[in-house]
Amino acid sequence: MGRRNVRRRALVRGFAVGGLGMLTTSLAACTAQPRSMPTLTVPLTSILPSPTSTPSVVPTLAPHPTAKMSSAAPTPIPTQQVHLAAPSPTATAIPDHPQFSDVAQRTPADALLYLRGRLPGYPEGSPQTAINFSPSDILETMDTIVLDQVKQREGSAALQKVYDTIAQAILVTLRDQYRTHWVVLALDAGHGGNKAFYWDPGSEGTEAWHTRGVAASVLKQAHESDFSRIIVRPIFNDAIPDDFGPTVPINRPSLNTILVRQVRASMLALEVAAWNKAHPDPANQVMLHEISVHFNVGAGGALVLHQGDTVRPEFVARSIEFAKRYLQQVTTDLNATGLLPSPLKLWGSNGLHDDVMMYRPMNLSGVTTSITAFRYGMLQGNGYSSRYIAQLLGKGR
Ligand SMILES: [Zn+2]
Repeated sequence: MGRRNVRRRALVRGFAVGGLGMLTTSLAACTAQPRSMPTLTVPLTSILPSPTSTPSVVPTLAPHPTAKMSSAAPTPIPTQQVHLAAPSPTATAIPDHPQFSDVAQRTPADALLYLRGRLPGYPEGSPQTAINFSPSDILETMDTIVLDQVKQREGSAALQKVYDTIAQAILVTLRDQYRTHWVVLALDAGHGGNKAFYWDPGSEGTEAWHTRGVAASVLKQAHESDFSRIIVRPIFNDAIPDDFGPTVPINRPSLNTILVRQVRASMLALEVAAWNKAHPDPANQVMLHEISVHFNVGAGGALVLHQGDTVRPEFVARSIEFAKRYLQQVTTDLNATGLLPSPLKLWGSNGLHDDVMMYRPMNLSGVTTSITAFRYGMLQGNGYSSRYIAQLLGKGR
């Protein structure tokens, strides 16, 4: 980590060109690994906003109004049902609401089985299916400190209004982008984790709480009729430690956190593919989109990290389309609230960045193609993430 930081700082200086230098700095601040392993002694209460603004997001989902999922049991729906269920004989016209499992309940042990192709219901699971499986965007809607200021100056209700506005913009954007299609939103609240094992507070010590506030609001608002074709499935779960245990050759909590979430999202991708195969009518096709909610430091504007040339071109196109639509929606809506200390503008010229890595981890110095760093693994690029998976499975280089 130290080496990487030194290397990053060196390259940050090398990128002292207009906004790029600032971007590098700000992104590092948002997504950087904690300096040291957090412990239970971290005074979380001192950074906790009031109860009304610190929802404890336990992504044990309430079922979608028309999606009768595992309402009785906290365990996931057996995914074989999802994969293998034949269309109902009576469903000759429009099938039932698509159903997808509550992947947030999947554990690191499940993730390992998945990566080895041994998880029941997911025989296709592999290191390859855990990357490059859907469009994905990382939302850096504003600097974390702005949210802290809203809380301090305007109070908890105002902060909740900001959360709700961001969440609504996410859902409106997905609805407008995918129009008549069903959409599965694989939703990540950036940072956080299981406090007894590993907690990453994110920027300003409060980012993780804010991302959870937004995610909770997305889950709540997704049940409204305006979003009846959006199915939200969290991929984070602070109740489950991101711990692969002592039997694997490498076990880095900061990387596990991202990998487990990505594996969960890729499970959804397989489920969506199975659904679409069984329901070929265009009106019944389901689209998967992954969103990771973050906030930033020092960007001074709204920013979305979209996918670049490390994933399939069709994913890149949908990622960029979401980014453009979201930035327009969220800046308009947030400024209309009148709650921000100053109007929210777009970062740089258009608020977009393709997240091409601005530094190169030392252990990948021999790789010549563009790489997405594992820190930005939510964008599904090949590189550090696939390398970590290989190490985890005992096939590391
Ligand atoms: Zn972040």
